Amino acid sequence: MPHPESTYAKFMGTTALKPRLLVVDDQPINIQVMYQIFAAEYQVFIATNGNQALNFCRTTPPDLVLLDIVMPGMDGFEVCAALKADASTKNIPVIFVTAHTDAVQETRGLELGAVDFISKPVNPAVVRARVHTQITLKFQSDLMRKLVFLDGLTGVFNRRYFDQQLAIEVARSARAQSPLALIMIDVDFFKRYNDNYGHQAGDDCLCTVAQTLKASLRRPADLVARYGGEEFACILPDTAFTDAMAMAQELEQTVRKKAIAHADSGAAHVVTVSLGVAGHSGQRPIQAATLLALADAQLYQAKHAGRARACGAELT
Ligand code: GH3
Ligand code: MG
Ligand code: MG
Repeated sequence: MPHPESTYAKFMGTTALKPRLLVVDDQPINIQVMYQIFAAEYQVFIATNGNQALNFCRTTPPDLVLLDIVMPGMDGFEVCAALKADASTKNIPVIFVTAHTDAVQETRGLELGAVDFISKPVNPAVVRARVHTQITLKFQSDLMRKLVFLDGLTGVFNRRYFDQQLAIEVARSARAQSPLALIMIDVDFFKRYNDNYGHQAGDDCLCTVAQTLKASLRRPADLVARYGGEEFACILPDTAFTDAMAMAQELEQTVRKKAIAHADSGAAHVVTVSLGVAGHSGQRPIQAATLLALADAQLYQAKHAGRARACGAELT
């Protein structure tokens, strides 16, 4: 079985990081034992009571929790129930580690959503193997959750994720009265590109355009998604209309500078995009559909004005 670290790197496409393990126990001796078992292969974090454990999981989620049952104050069962009730922590696997080995306790723990039950005193090899198994499963399910939201051809987010994030950002903008901008992007004369260079080259071109757009976004909250066919969309939270227009112009230039030959384009000799920008000040609540319709109308304007440009408008 490969080590979880290499599984992590392989599945998540990241440089190998040690998996994060949270040990929750009120007894220093137990913490010490677990630390010795795991320190070489995992980043081990410690919580000595339930509240500490919950705070840690909500702010800096670990990949797995090793949870003692008997603790002063909140016991392990309560901690597990709270983790499973919270959307931000419910996917963190929990393994109970306890001196109680009766079937009633074990059943209760598993019914609360724990993935395994280990009895103290622990056998290091067994506990290591069980944790390893659960971490591997965790990384696999993280990957599955991630893939559901990615476009298979271009690797950027897909329409499903875009729709979900737009709804979240529209709600956030209304709550915080913060600005929000949307950019719709469409490749110019792309049918001719396919006709001239073939569908495979067309696919490659879409990948390059998608990755170029993605690399141009600067803020962590900005996102680009494939909206459909040869259309992409960017959500720019907390971004004023004028800044969104500047970003759209930059995106247009960046794609153009990729200099992907397009001999039949009526707009240039290289692949270009047209962009429609919709801005919203956040001063009053709006519908996601309203913002989308405005961006679409502005994209239409850009096409009509000659393509390879950005047009935009702000909702008042
Ligand atoms: P305009 O400048 O007005 O946008 O012209 P256009 O040719 O880009 O627009 P139109 O909507 O007529 O054609 C879009 C083309 O994009 C047609 C379709 O075959 C192609 N297309 C859509 N999705 C894909 C894809 O995944 N791969 C490839 N290769 N082509 C695609
Ligand atoms: Mg189109
Ligand atoms: Mg097009």
